[in-house]
Amino acid sequence: MTTGIPKTQVDTSKPHPARVYDCLLGGKDNYPVDRQVARQLPENSPRDARLNRAFMHRAVAWLAESGIDQFLDIGTGIPTEPNLHQVAQRANPACRVVYSDNDPIVLRHAEALLISTPEGATDYIQADVREPEVILQHARSFLDFSRPVALSLIALMHFIPDGDDPYAIARALTDALAPGSFFVLTQGTADFHPDLAATVSGTYKSGGISLALRSREQVARFFDGLDLEEPGLVRATEWYRTGPAPELEDCSFYVGVARVP
Ligand code: SAH
Repeated sequence: MTTGIPKTQVDTSKPHPARVYDCLLGGKDNYPVDRQVARQLPENSPRDARLNRAFMHRAVAWLAESGIDQFLDIGTGIPTEPNLHQVAQRANPACRVVYSDNDPIVLRHAEALLISTPEGATDYIQADVREPEVILQHARSFLDFSRPVALSLIALMHFIPDGDDPYAIARALTDALAPGSFFVLTQGTADFHPDLAATVSGTYKSGGISLALRSREQVARFFDGLDLEEPGLVRATEWYRTGPAPELEDCSFYVGVARVP
């Protein structure tokens, strides 16, 4: 669908996923249309967003501590501290990170993502995950794909309906990764709270955004052919490897970290 608004211009007439999410996280980079959607979401939604992000912090810290020093993060969102590169570079200042999102508001705020340690580097490309080759081509100029890279799709794939073949998109991306690379995914589900999930989907829908919440089995398909790391495909608060264990809170995000064989 074309709106007549250039891809680099922020459209404030309709809610956008990045801005609704920013609102849930208590950020300031959102507009009345976004806040209207966020207000109508169930009251556990801000907590779910924070728990999803806290998982990202734990997974990235573990990966960087395990020796991964290259990251490709797609569906990055509006910068929220700590951002992925800050977590990774805390463990290893030499980490290189490529960020990507298709929303012009993220591009507008990308400067915050580009403040790297002097030893490492960060980069940003505005692109749609449905064009994985565009993202890969850019990332190859910045990361060394003959060595392991951690690819992360955090709270992104529920914005990609089955009709856009999300599994083929994920496969195109993971196929480009060297053995020993990692794939990190989080995805919203209706498995635990079908009623709340229906409210979430209905609210986004009223703002013109289709959500593809997926069952455990459907999320597991993203990991076909990859080796899921312990503790497997679990809820966000159940995943940790180092540091203090998170509290086992209720959460409607499935998460997983898999190794590329
Ligand atoms: N990864 C961040 C932000 C999640 S919000 C976090 O978990 O904290 C989802 C993000 O995906 C938004 O920034 C939105 O703009 C982006 N997004 C949605 N559809 C996309 C698409 N087709 N291609 C690229 N990014 C997309």
